[in-house]
Amino acid sequence: MKINFTFFSNSYSNFNLQNYLSFGIKKSTTRELTKIRISAHDLLIERGRYFRPKLPRAQRLCSTCNEVEDEEHFVLFCTKYSSLRSVLFQKLGVDDHDLSPQSNKAFELLIKLLNPTDIEETRLFAILLLPHSC
Ligand SMILES: [Zn+2]
Repeated sequence: MKINFTFFSNSYSNFNLQNYLSFGIKKSTTRELTKIRISAHDLLIERGRYFRPKLPRAQRLCSTCNEVEDEEHFVLFCTKYSSLRSVLFQKLGVDDHDLSPQSNKAFELLIKLLNPTDIEETRLFAILLLPHSC
């Protein structure tokens, strides 16, 4: 299963004001979460679309892992952020031992992380997002 913006937009349960925007957390935190939710980030999967000539999707690779640098890779699998992610997963009680790219379990976890339900989940997810922001 390929994950892309259309798939994400079809997966969000509603298009109302999202809970995380009303938690009173720092704007920089909510901005990074919103950017990744709407594919307005600087991961190569999006930036590569605007290269001239356009960089083919299969060549939009993470410089560390040599895998397609998309939202799923960045949030769930990139080795560059493994220590930050392990803290996040530990605090959220996520077991990632049998998590594999492009799996339903990975997609469900990604959607859960992109839709934090309380201030603690939002802050924990931001730990992963903020070092990547520019
Ligand atoms: Zn990577």
